[in-house]
Amino acid sequence: MTFETLGLSPALLRALSETNYTVPTPIQAEAIPLALAGHDLLGGAQTGTGKTAAFGLPLLQRLAKETPPKGPRKPRALILVPTRELAVQVGDSLKAYGRHLRLNVTTVFGGAGMHPQIDSLRRGVDILVACPGRLLDHMENGHAKLDAVEVLVLDEADRMLDMGFLPAMKRILARVPKARQTLLFSATFEPRIKALALEFMRDPKQVQVAANNAIADTIVHRVHPVDAGRKHDLLVDILATRHTERVLVFGKTKHGCNRLAEQLEKAGLPAVAIHGNKSQAQRQKALAAFKAGRARILVATDVAARGLDIPDLPLVINHDLPMVAEDYIHRIGRTGRNGASGEALSLVAPEEGGLLRQIQRMLKADIVMDTVEGFAPSRPIDLNAPIPKNGGSGQRSQGRPAGKPAHRAHGKPQVRGAQPHAGPKQHRGSGKPGSARRGARA
Ligand code: AMP
Repeated sequence: MTFETLGLSPALLRALSETNYTVPTPIQAEAIPLALAGHDLLGGAQTGTGKTAAFGLPLLQRLAKETPPKGPRKPRALILVPTRELAVQVGDSLKAYGRHLRLNVTTVFGGAGMHPQIDSLRRGVDILVACPGRLLDHMENGHAKLDAVEVLVLDEADRMLDMGFLPAMKRILARVPKARQTLLFSATFEPRIKALALEFMRDPKQVQVAANNAIADTIVHRVHPVDAGRKHDLLVDILATRHTERVLVFGKTKHGCNRLAEQLEKAGLPAVAIHGNKSQAQRQKALAAFKAGRARILVATDVAARGLDIPDLPLVINHDLPMVAEDYIHRIGRTGRNGASGEALSLVAPEEGGLLRQIQRMLKADIVMDTVEGFAPSRPIDLNAPIPKNGGSGQRSQGRPAGKPAHRAHGKPQVRGAQPHAGPKQHRGSGKPGSARRGARA
């Protein structure tokens, strides 16, 4: 399978070969011909699958073929994304794929000045990549006109809903012409995504790279039970004894991530933190340091890491479990890619058992319980522990439209279902994947 056989134009093929893409990824192979034929698409794909090119290439081809209407150029394609990082990333990818086309790509997102964005919108835009909250601001001020939109993309739609953007999305969609092509990408096809598709799409074709909530079965899921107060020490111990080139560590709160990175630095472990309180430039700098190997450890919140183009990692550590079970899947999507083996290691305090149970239910895979010598918790993990309503972190408010409550469609206590395979055994946390049971389904 090559990009030529998918029906892409010479200008795009040239850009792809310059970008060193030779073979389409599975989602690209499935989605591109359907999108080129004008169908609406419901795409099940996470970051890392090549979904940006899957919707971006057909969109660029369509816009390049048609002559723009006379007058100032209004957006003919609108791509809604949940976070500013994803906006920047999608914008950069579209510019790269469309480098031999004369189409303007503009991004608008919150947390940056309005005026440069207004200037860009005034100069004329063909493709607008936007976070819903900021786009609404520009619409209300009359700077963004959506009546010429022919292609609408909802990227990471599940995350936009998680972040409470549904009302903003509905207001935006009400201003986009009904006669259009709609491409929706989501990591899962949960009922609320299907409802969105039913309301806003026309007879969509469904394309999916893997089953719902699929997780690479090359990933070992391991839990180290430990008291909350000793997690930092255990983390330092793990990072100091394991010789993994790059490690992504997830924390719950912005403050906690900062503190963690500082403590790791103090222990002689080069670490950088990214979260919603850091400026765009700071986050990009931290990510660049991590990618270049100047910082071995990247400490991140869920929202900050979402959609980031983080390279393949052998190890992802959850210093804290995510408040929403699906975020566990997003987190560990950074490891075990393309058949490589990976490990997802979670430090779990006894009172976090409810969250663990919720994750276990969704994961349908074995979780190996390893108590690290010297770090045994004061009591066993309590799988019936109540799930905190709101992790108290406020981190999920990032990017949410001001004053709008976050939707919490997940995160409800779920007390039925299988128990983790909790056969605690004494084990020095060497973390050799070979020691883990895997493959068995709960
Ligand atoms: P995405 O899921 O769109 O964020 O893409 C994930 C990563 O894969 C990005 O670094 C892309 O540049 C890269 N990528 C996408 N499609 C291809 C391809 N066909 N060949 C090689 N790399 C790709």
